[in-house]
Amino acid sequence: MRKQIAAANWKMNLTLVEGEQLINDIVEANIELQPNQQAIFAVPFPYLLSIKKIADKVANFKIAAQNCNNHKSGAYTGEVSAPMLQHLGIEYVIIGHSERREYYHESNEMLAQKVNIALENKVAPIFCCGESLSIREANTQNDHIEQQLKESLFHLTAAQMNGFIIAYEPIWAIGTGRTATSEQAQDMHQHIRTVIANQYGTSVAASVSILYGGSVKANNAVDIFSKPDVDGGLVGGASLIPAEFIAIIKSLK
Ligand code: PEP
Repeated sequence: MRKQIAAANWKMNLTLVEGEQLINDIVEANIELQPNQQAIFAVPFPYLLSIKKIADKVANFKIAAQNCNNHKSGAYTGEVSAPMLQHLGIEYVIIGHSERREYYHESNEMLAQKVNIALENKVAPIFCCGESLSIREANTQNDHIEQQLKESLFHLTAAQMNGFIIAYEPIWAIGTGRTATSEQAQDMHQHIRTVIANQYGTSVAASVSILYGGSVKANNAVDIFSKPDVDGGLVGGASLIPAEFIAIIKSLK
């Protein structure tokens, strides 16, 4: 049974004290997750260990970094490597968020390198894909997402793809308050699963968790997560508000 995941992306927000307060509030909600459900908190690098210490009090609360470098080590001032994350006990890393693709010019090829180095160091990628508004308006989103998956992921073996996590995040829905409808999310998630099945077979495709991201809130999470190919969400703004994110975790199926 594939994982159902509510992943919080704090981005570059909160002081450490505010972050600790937020995770403490969520821990104190005593949410009982099923064995196949997880809440993942992608926090700024300097907060990883402090937030992990608090999150570790709850079974199936996990920590993610928001990025890692595409090299193992070396003269890359200001960067953080996958081996560093592994040695901190960090289990997940977001790779290819649209903000990194846009502001830091991360190409599909560079993201393939990041995926490789994360996997080599046993840090599981949460690989983001998504289309811009102009691509959606031209109705070429399916080809665009397929290209992103092919160029960054399809060099992986079936064993590496088994249980992989992908986040579909239409750029026009991120931080805009404009959510894809649950039908639009389902259509794209089904497309992604079909593309994976064509490459790796149906059993690998069925094992991949596909999260939806883009203005997920407490009041739309149940509807979006209820769709058969939607396995939870990657949540920005609403993950900074305890009551919102608690409700989103509770919306997992
Ligand atoms: C995100 O940044 O991954 C995201 C989905 O943000 P928001 O929920 O604020 O749209």
